[in-house]
Amino acid sequence: MSMELGLELGLELELEEGSKTETAAKAYDALSLSYGEWLDLTVNVWKEPRFRADQICQWIYAKKVFDCRAMTNLSKTLREKLLRESLIRVPLQVGERKSRDGTRKYLWQTEDGQRVESVLLDHANHTTACVSTQAGCPLSCVFCATGQAGYARDLTAGEILGQFLTMEQRLGRDINNIVFMGMGEPLLNEAHVLKSIRVLNHAKMRNLGGRHITVSTSGIVPGIRNLADFEVPVRLSVSLHAPNDALRTKLMPVNKRYPLSELVDAMRHYKKRTGERVTVEYTLIEGVNDDPQLAFEMGALLDGLGVYVNVIPYNPTGTVPSGMTELRRPSEARIKAFCAALTELSIEFEIRREKGKDILAACGQLAGELKR
Ligand code: SAH
Ligand code: SF4
Repeated sequence: MSMELGLELGLELELEEGSKTETAAKAYDALSLSYGEWLDLTVNVWKEPRFRADQICQWIYAKKVFDCRAMTNLSKTLREKLLRESLIRVPLQVGERKSRDGTRKYLWQTEDGQRVESVLLDHANHTTACVSTQAGCPLSCVFCATGQAGYARDLTAGEILGQFLTMEQRLGRDINNIVFMGMGEPLLNEAHVLKSIRVLNHAKMRNLGGRHITVSTSGIVPGIRNLADFEVPVRLSVSLHAPNDALRTKLMPVNKRYPLSELVDAMRHYKKRTGERVTVEYTLIEGVNDDPQLAFEMGALLDGLGVYVNVIPYNPTGTVPSGMTELRRPSEARIKAFCAALTELSIEFEIRREKGKDILAACGQLAGELKR
């Protein structure tokens, strides 16, 4: 075999074919395949013409057809090969909440029983999907339900793409934007996340422009630097939450590994390489990081970067982080005072009132609730 997909799962598949039962030795994880891997498989392994790879990708990524028996323009032999030797694994839905504002939150279960979430936000004329990149998260940010619940494993590219494609299938139309902002730290699962982005972006696959793809990170410096050089020009969002190391380390232990000086350097590098403005996420927690003085400190720290700030009033998770008192959302007056400081600094911002508050929209909360 010429290809080294490395994706043979060694699964013994029992397939009913008329009266005959066939056993396949291996199954390719179809949603984890890049375009090059599809070509290789189609041409070199299955000895089919190249255009067959395009047709398969069309079925999956344009038409959201996940049953190869319904891929009617493929030859019968190819459909059988696909059925026998590949698996299009879409995630199993185990929960769904629909909020009054139209936001939908999905809870999926992976084959090994991990539970991950996605959110589908329906704005006036465009939709955004927020997907998970890890089952849990190892970074333990104090304000985050996922971080407090711990880490199980990284998701594969196929598991990441499966969330997006299944939501598109349910919606019955294409989703305009994807944000890697669900459970997990995308840049700690860099290989699979970047692979899923290549698939989303590829003209013969999902054909989604880089400007419609946002990676949110807690500040994994090497990952940000790699993203700056990545062939797909995606948008970068950095979860800052505090403008000095002492406070940031208290909220986000990852700050010990990548302190602010290194993080801000990486952001400047990204801006210089890509010409793109970086977004900063700032979750406002009462009495913790909502002092307007901290906005001025942030202004000085990020001077010249021209960031756009998403101010996110803290969404209570129901857990009290160890060694801390209960975290609370600031009053409207405190939120206003913080934002007034940003205005004074001429920093552009928006207050992101999280959609779907009534369905527990903050990261990791639905999974936590349904476990109880
Ligand atoms: N790990 C990545 C992406 C997932 S978290 C990151 O940290 O950026 C996505 C965003 O949700 C982060 O900005 C995070 O700070 C925010 N978030 C997590 N829990 C929250 C909560 N309870 N209230 C408000 N925002 C929260
Ligand atoms: Fe992980 Fe992001 Fe939650 Fe922090 S905020 S624990 S990095 S998912």
